[in-house]
Amino acid sequence: MGLNNIRIVLIGTTHPGNIGAVARAMKNMCLHQLYLVQPKEFPCAEATARASGADDLLYNAKVCSSLDEALDGCHLVVGASARLRRVEWPQFAPRECATQLLSEAQQGAVALVFGRESSGLSNAEMDRCQYLVNIPANEEYSSLNLSMAVQVLAYELRMTSLEGTSLKAKSDRMVATADEMEGFIRHLEQTMRDIQFSDPRQSTKLLRRLRRLFNRAQPDSDELNILRGILSAAQGCGHQNK
Ligand code: SAH
Repeated sequence: MGLNNIRIVLIGTTHPGNIGAVARAMKNMCLHQLYLVQPKEFPCAEATARASGADDLLYNAKVCSSLDEALDGCHLVVGASARLRRVEWPQFAPRECATQLLSEAQQGAVALVFGRESSGLSNAEMDRCQYLVNIPANEEYSSLNLSMAVQVLAYELRMTSLEGTSLKAKSDRMVATADEMEGFIRHLEQTMRDIQFSDPRQSTKLLRRLRRLFNRAQPDSDELNILRGILSAAQGCGHQNK
């Protein structure tokens, strides 16, 4: 049941052959939900050939025009990155990533996001991920082929799901979805501007740190609504003071 709630999201894939190889890797490991954000070329005969029998996944793949669309309704979003970023993002090792995704997947949709072959994930895309996962490869040659990276992380998910008869949701509490969190962050950003707490041109780093804080806290929808109520009240005061 858990594996069915896990989306594999590929952003801006350039080589259709990689999309096919990802479908094959996924089906081998019993994953079925493939989301493609602005693929360069899809559908494509090369993708179908490389899928070699996993073309049902390609047929059912959801092609999305934005990452937001692919993450709609997701409670946990993890981004796979070949590089360890300067901004210290909360990180999972592959096995831990599998445990967390499967555990959240007991409650609803979760996503594992992969970047472009050439440049990986942008900072803005990383911002949408609560955690990063890194496959600890050769430090001097750490970037795996996209489908190989999917294979490694999908294998960990499969192993954890086979072992994990005792896996259960961490709590009965329903963590807010990624889009609810995004709505809150935008509201926070706007409020910080309205009350002249920060100069928007300099607030990127600050906002990133605040994202980390709220992602770590894993608030539910009600808690986010309380925080948004406070923000609205602060915005009201800000307007009165002007
Ligand atoms: N040149 C890019 C890497 C692209 S590889 C870069 O330096 O960022 C395509 C995608 O495969 C990456 O965006 C990432 O999602 C995944 N990937 C490749 N190697 C990985 C690794 N060691 N750990 C985690 N994900 C990896």
